[in-house]
Amino acid sequence: MNIVVQKFGGTSVKNLKCMKQVMEKVLVPYNEGNKVVVVLSAMAGETNRLLGLAEEWSSEPDLAEMDSLVSTGEQVSTALFTMLLKDKGIRARSLLGFQAPIRTNSAFTRARILDIDSVRIKSMLEDHDILVVAGFQGCDEDLRITTLGRGGSDTSAVAMAAALDADVCEIFTDVPGVFTTDPNICSQARKLDTVAYDEMLEMASMGAKVLQIRSVEFAKKYNVKVHVRSTFSDEIGTYVTQEDENMESILVSGIAYDKDQARITLARVKDVPGISASLFTPIAEQGILVDMIVQNPSRDGRTDMTFTVPRADLEKTLEIIDSIRDELGAEEVLYDKNVCKVSVIGVGMRNHSGVASKAFQALKDDNINILMISTSEIKITCLIEEKYTELAIRTLHNTFGLDQSMSEANLR
Ligand code: ADP
Ligand code: ASP
Ligand code: MG
Repeated sequence: MNIVVQKFGGTSVKNLKCMKQVMEKVLVPYNEGNKVVVVLSAMAGETNRLLGLAEEWSSEPDLAEMDSLVSTGEQVSTALFTMLLKDKGIRARSLLGFQAPIRTNSAFTRARILDIDSVRIKSMLEDHDILVVAGFQGCDEDLRITTLGRGGSDTSAVAMAAALDADVCEIFTDVPGVFTTDPNICSQARKLDTVAYDEMLEMASMGAKVLQIRSVEFAKKYNVKVHVRSTFSDEIGTYVTQEDENMESILVSGIAYDKDQARITLARVKDVPGISASLFTPIAEQGILVDMIVQNPSRDGRTDMTFTVPRADLEKTLEIIDSIRDELGAEEVLYDKNVCKVSVIGVGMRNHSGVASKAFQALKDDNINILMISTSEIKITCLIEEKYTELAIRTLHNTFGLDQSMSEANLR
C-alpha cells in the first residue's frame, strides 16, 4: 500500500472555497492510486478565538480543559472536509486524535507524541481511501485530550508519515515553500529548493513558523521526506532533506526572526557558586524556555545576569525572580519587551570563520545596536530592538546575497 500524507494549515481550510482547493490537491495522489492521510489544522483564526474564550472565562485556565477546548477547532475542519469528500463518493472518514489513536504524554498544551497506532490506521486504510486526521491533538494514557503546541499540526503530519512509512509528507501552506526569510516581511526573499534538516531545525527554533520545530525533529529522526508547498499553486516547493555537499558550499541559507521575546537583567547579583542554578532551576520547573544567557565578569563579588524568555512568560518569570530575590541578592531587576532575535543560519558556516563579523558589520552600517549575541555551529543570533527587525532582516539578506541562489557573497 502506497501512502501519501498531506497536511493543510489554517489558511488553507479557512472556508468552503479554500477547502475545495484542498480537495483538488488531495485528489492528485488519490487519483494516482495512493491511499491518502490528510492532516488538517483548524480554520484560520479559530485556535486564537478559542484561546481568547478561555482567557475570558478563567483567570488561570485548567490546562487539560484548555486542550479539550482548543482541540475542537480541528474537529470542525476535519468533519467538514470529510463531508466534501463523501459528497464525491470517496471512501473517507475523519479521525480525531484519540480515535487514531495518537498517544502523547500528559504535558497539556505542549504534549509530545509517544506513539501512533499504525496497525490500526493501516487496517482502516483497507476500507477507506482517504483518512482525514485532526492535527494538533492526541490523547494521554488516561484518554484525556492533549494538544501539541502552536503549529502542532505539522508535527501530527510528520509523525503520521513516519509511523505509516509514507512515501512523502506534503506540508501545504499559504506560501510556496521555505524561503531565505519570511516572504511576508522581505520582498527579496527567495524560495529554497532544498533545506537541510539541521538548518530547518535552527530556522524553526529561531522563529520561522512555517514548520513547527518538533515536526522537523521527527522528520530528521525518521528520515521523512518533507515537501513544503503552496495550497494555492501547483509549483514545486521546498524539500527538507539530509545535508549534501552542495549545501555546504553556501554559507548562509536563511534569516529567521522571533519577536516573541523579552529580555531580563538581574543587576549586581551575588557572584557565588550556585547562583545560576538557583535562578534557572525554578524557571525551568515552570516549563519556561530560557534562550540567550549572558553573565558579565564580576566586580566586587557581584555580577549582572541577562537572559531572554518568551514574551508570554515574562510576568511568570518576574514573579519567580521576585520570590527568590533575597537569595540572589539582586540589586535591581530590569526587563525589556521590545526586543527581537534575528538569526543567520546555514550549515556552510560550520568550520568557516567570518560570517559573524560580516553580520555584525552589516548591522553596524545600519546603526542597529546589538543587545546580546549567541551562536551555535550553524547559527548566529543577535538580539536587537524590535523596531529594527525589518531593517535588520533586509540588511542581512542583502549582505549575504540571499536574493540570488549562487551569490559570490554567500559562497565559501
Ligand atoms: P499554516 O497555517 O499553513 O501552518 P503558518 O502561518 O503556520 O501556516 O506558516 C506559514 C507562514 O510562515 C508564512 O505565511 C510566513 O509568513 C511564515 N514564515 C516565516 N519564515 C518563513 C520562511 N523562512 N519561509 C516561508 N515562510 C516563513
Ligand atoms: N490550530 C493549531 C494552531 O493554530 C495547530 C496548527 O495550526 O498547526 O496552532
Ligand atoms: Mg503552521
